[in-house]
Amino acid sequence: MLDKKTASFMRSLCMGEIEEEILLPYPEPKPAEKETLAAVFQTLRSMLGSREKEFRAWDTAGEFPASFVDELREAGLFSLVIPEAHGGLGLGASAYSRVVQELGKYDASTAVTVGAHSSIGMRGLLLFGTDEQRARYLPRLATGELVAAFCLTEPGAGSDAAGIKTTGVRDGDDWILNGEKLWITNGGIADFFTVFAKTSLEGRGHITAFIVTRDMKGVTTGPHEDKMGIRASSTTTVVLEDVRVPAANVLGEVGKGFKVAMRILNAGRTGLGGGSVGGMKRLIELSVGQARDRVQFGQPIATYATIQQKIGQMVIDCYAAESVVNLVAGLVDRGFEDYAVEAAISKVFSTEALWRTADEALQIAAGQGYMREMPYERVLRDSRINRIFEGTNEILRLFIALTAMQDVAEELKDLSASMRGVFADPIKGFGVLSDYAKRRASLATGLRREKGRWTLLHGSLAAEAALFEEAATALARAADRILRQHGKKIIGEQLATRRLADIMIDLFALAAVLARVSTKIEDHGEASAATEREILRAFARQAKRRVDAALAGIDENEDALVKALAKHVLEVGKYEWDCL
Ligand SMILES: Cc1cc2nc3c(=O)[nH]c(=O)nc-3n(C[C@H](O)[C@H](O)[C@H](O)COP(=O)(O)OP(=O)(O)OC[C@H]3O[C@@H](n4cnc5c(N)ncnc54)[C@H](O)[C@@H]3O)c2cc1C
Repeated sequence: MLDKKTASFMRSLCMGEIEEEILLPYPEPKPAEKETLAAVFQTLRSMLGSREKEFRAWDTAGEFPASFVDELREAGLFSLVIPEAHGGLGLGASAYSRVVQELGKYDASTAVTVGAHSSIGMRGLLLFGTDEQRARYLPRLATGELVAAFCLTEPGAGSDAAGIKTTGVRDGDDWILNGEKLWITNGGIADFFTVFAKTSLEGRGHITAFIVTRDMKGVTTGPHEDKMGIRASSTTTVVLEDVRVPAANVLGEVGKGFKVAMRILNAGRTGLGGGSVGGMKRLIELSVGQARDRVQFGQPIATYATIQQKIGQMVIDCYAAESVVNLVAGLVDRGFEDYAVEAAISKVFSTEALWRTADEALQIAAGQGYMREMPYERVLRDSRINRIFEGTNEILRLFIALTAMQDVAEELKDLSASMRGVFADPIKGFGVLSDYAKRRASLATGLRREKGRWTLLHGSLAAEAALFEEAATALARAADRILRQHGKKIIGEQLATRRLADIMIDLFALAAVLARVSTKIEDHGEASAATEREILRAFARQAKRRVDAALAGIDENEDALVKALAKHVLEVGKYEWDCL
C-alpha cells in the first residue's frame, strides 16, 4: 500500500525501484470536470478568441487596460481554484492546469496574470490559511475584487530566497514590515500580497509569511517594468515602509515562512506547465498553417523533410510535456504530498520544450516570423520568462537531483553509521549492510530488485518498458556511485548533479508517456492509440540517446577544462583571442 504522504516516483527510481502504482492508471478528467471545463473554454473562446490585435497592441503598450482586467474579473477567472464554499469554481490541480493551458493558447500575459493570482499569489492562503483568514479573504479573491501577488524576490535575493532582507519586527499584537520586493507579477493591480519577511535578525532563513493588503498604510507599488516579454502583465516593485500587519495575518507558523514559500511554488508549478503546453499547441497550429501556405521552389515548404522534422519534433515535445504536466497535476488531485521533484521536472521539461518549439516555429516562418505583425516573435519573447521565474531551471535541476537522491544519501549515511556501528551493535549494523549490499549487487548484475520492473503496463509496450528499466538501473547505479564518490561535497558538484537531473527529467517524461499510452490502450484499444504509440517510440529512443550521453558524460567530460577557461576569463574580464 502506497503512503501518499511520502511516496515519490522519482525518489524511488533513484533507488532502482519503479513505483508504477503512483503513475498508473494515467489520470483522466472526470465527466463533471469535463463539463465545467467545456463551459470555461466556451467563455474563453468568446472573450479572447478574436482579441489578437488587442493583445499585440497591449504588448506594445506594455500593459493591459484596466477594462480588460475587469473583463477577467467578470468572467470569473480569478475564482478558478477557490473552493465553491467561498464563491469559487473549486477546480482541482488538473482542471486548473488545463484552464491555464487554454489561456496560454490565446495570450501569455493573460495566462500569467491569472496564473500569478491563483498559482502563487493566494496559494499560501489555500494551503496554510486559518478558517478565519480564508473566510475573510477568499470570497473577495474569488470575485477578483482582490487580485493576489506573491512577494518573495528582492534586489539581493533571487534564487537565494533565504537571503531576503525585508524585516518583520513584533510590536504588541502587530508586526512592522520594512523592505522592498522586486519584479512582483500583478504588483500594479493586486490588493492582496503574500509577503515573506525575516522575523529574526539572527542568521539566515528565519522567515515568516504575511498577508498584506494594499489598504495598509505604508504599502506602495512602483511603475510597470518595461520587459522583454509578457509585457502586458503587470510587474512592479512592492515597497513596505513601516507597514503594521496584525498578527492575525501571519500565514502558517512564525519562522516557517521558507517552507510556506517552497510549498506554494511546488503547488504552482502545474499552472506554469499548463501555460507552456498551451503555448506549444498554438505554435503547432501556427506552424502547420505556415508550412502549408508558404511556397518555395514551387512547393509548399511542408513538403520538405527539414520542415517536417521540426513539426514532428514539436508534436513529440508537446505530447511529452502534456503527459508530464497532467500526470503531476493528477498526483496533486489524488492526494500525493511528496511531488516536489516531479513538479520541478514538469516545470523544467515543459518550459524548455516550449522554448524549443517557439524557436523552431519562428524558424519555419523565417523572415515573416521575425516581423512584429506576426505572432511568432511575441510568443518567443513571452516564452523566455518561463525558464527564469518560479525557480530558474538551473536551480531546479540541482533541486531535482539532490532531492530525488535523498533516500540514496540516507542509505549511504546509514551505511557509514552502521560500519561504525558494526562493532558496537553488529546485528543492527549487519541488517543495514545486508540490505545495501543486496541492492548494490542487484544493480551491479543488472538483476533488478523486486520493484525494478514495470508489471502493469500494456504488453505491447514491452520494448519501451525494457528500455526504461535499463536506463533506470543505470540512473540508480550512477546516483549511488556519485554520492559515494563525493559524499556531502555533492552540493558543490554542480555539473555531475546537473547530468543526473537531466537523466531524471528524461526518465520521468518517458514514464509519463508510457503510463499515458498504456492507459489509453487499456481503456480504448490498441488501434485508438496507434499514433500515440509512435510518439512514444520516437520519444523513448530520443530520451535513451540523451540519457546514454549524460551517463557517459559523468565519467568522461571536459568539465575541468571548461571551468578553468571560465576562471581565466573571469579573471581577465574579456575575450582575449581576437584575430586582429
Ligand atoms: C517577469 C518576472 C516576473 C516575476 N514575478 C515574480 C513574482 O511574482 N514574485 C516573486 O517573488 N518573484 C518574481 N520574479 C522573480 C524571479 O522569481 C527571479 O527572477 C528568479 O527567482 C531568479 O532570480 P534572479 O533573477 O535574481 O537571478 P539570480 O538568482 O541572480 O541568478 C542569476 C543566474 O545565476 C544562477 N544561479 C544562482 N544561484 C546559483 C547557484 N547556487 N548555483 C548555480 N547557479 C546559480 C541562476 O540560475 C541564474 O542563471 C519575477 C521575475 C521576472 C523577470
